[in-house]
Amino acid sequence: MITIKCAKCGDKLLRYKKIGKGKILRCYFDRIFEDKTVKKDGKVYCKCGNFIGVYEKNYIKMRQKNFTFSGKFD
Ligand SMILES: [Zn+2]
Repeated sequence: MITIKCAKCGDKLLRYKKIGKGKILRCYFDRIFEDKTVKKDGKVYCKCGNFIGVYEKNYIKMRQKNFTFSGKFD
């Protein structure tokens, strides 16, 4: 499980079960265990207003550099 945080304010945004190595390009809804993001017009933001990603059919397309993460990949 990894914790995804806002790169701007450091707030926790998502707890996510990441499978496999590599960048976090997408966060699939069925692997998100905690979600503190703000959704507006199909987009995902931190409470501070930082743009995190775009809502797609079954995942969030993550905006690189706007978030950081810690924890272990599953
Ligand atoms: Zn933030």
